[in-house]
Amino acid sequence: MKLRETIDFIRSLYGKEAFIPLHAPVFAGNEKIYLQECIDSTFVSSVGRFVDRFEAMVAEFTGAAYAIATVNGTAALHVALKLVGVDEGSEVITQPLTFVATCNAISYCRARPVFVDVDKDTLGMSPDSLEAFLQKHAMVQGGVCINKTTGRRISAVVPMHTFGHPCRIDRIAELCERYAIPFVEDAAESLGSYFKGRHTGTYGRVGVFSFNGNKTITTGGGGMLVTDDEALAARAKHITTTAKIPHSYEYIHDEIGYNYRLPNLNAALGCAQMERLEEMLENKRATATAYRHYFEGVNDITFVEEPVDARSNYWLNAIILDSREERDRFLMESNGAGVMVRPIWRLMNRLTIYETCQSMPLDNALWLEERVVNIPSGVRL
Ligand SMILES: *Cc1c(COP(=O)(O)O)cnc(C)c1O
Repeated sequence: MKLRETIDFIRSLYGKEAFIPLHAPVFAGNEKIYLQECIDSTFVSSVGRFVDRFEAMVAEFTGAAYAIATVNGTAALHVALKLVGVDEGSEVITQPLTFVATCNAISYCRARPVFVDVDKDTLGMSPDSLEAFLQKHAMVQGGVCINKTTGRRISAVVPMHTFGHPCRIDRIAELCERYAIPFVEDAAESLGSYFKGRHTGTYGRVGVFSFNGNKTITTGGGGMLVTDDEALAARAKHITTTAKIPHSYEYIHDEIGYNYRLPNLNAALGCAQMERLEEMLENKRATATAYRHYFEGVNDITFVEEPVDARSNYWLNAIILDSREERDRFLMESNGAGVMVRPIWRLMNRLTIYETCQSMPLDNALWLEERVVNIPSGVRL
């Protein structure tokens, strides 16, 4: 393996710093101006104009009719699941190759994850595996999908666009339609990614984004729900803002809501970041192209390219090594040399908290878990 050469190549992209992080935020636009404006207004908390503006910017960028900001992506997922009807004792089909937030949000609704496999090329939910699961276990009864094997209701399907690479979301949408299952997209990693020309997160009844510090753009911490459903958008706003009935001085709440509001201060950061999003996406794309060319000349490493029919934001570039041994050697050497690289998350079905969940054969996910490494992907200055 061209180990030393590869580490040197990454260094050549990211300059002379002793430590090269996997991803780092860049604040090169109006961030300080908007933050100052926000502080001067004293509206730094749950009320303010930046929240509305940030929501409008994300809605416009993604093409969604409505966008509702939240305190983080996990909170957005929790509310999205609740709003499509995920409830206690039901089951939610997702992929084992994801960040733990996907499964935790399912658990917050007191539902159970069910795992189907991913595709090797997209790293996201495999429609073939989903279809095989549904054919074997699902039956639709009075407009409700039941898992014949467990007797529980299947209340949602949640695919995730891994590292920003869109999965085969059109086929997943079709299957959800056929089996009468609500469909929520975990698009936390895929702001700026499109499938067949349509922005990820807008195929599902609800889509969710994250603006955590390591994502393509950041608000420090933050999240967003997007939807075309007006009633659902109104409910999302209501229950993420403590379910308070609008009134100038009375405090009346008509259900148990959540304090999931995004502070205006964070939204100010978000507005400035959104203004630079296109530029950052182009910058990241150029980095991905440089990686692709480089790895074409390396026999035993495969660079993960954007899938067919998709345009990826290349949030985190990924490579596939030949074996677990090679991967471990690469992780050790590169991190040791100050070039941060990371293995894939421990698969959800292998975490103690989720190991008893029902699952399909997960051969692709297991194969990828042993071999995939993320390499530095931040915007280059
Ligand atoms: C980042 C992320 C989230 C949400 O994370 P927050 O840190 O809560 O904003 C959810 N799902 C996936 C797959 C993610 O990568």
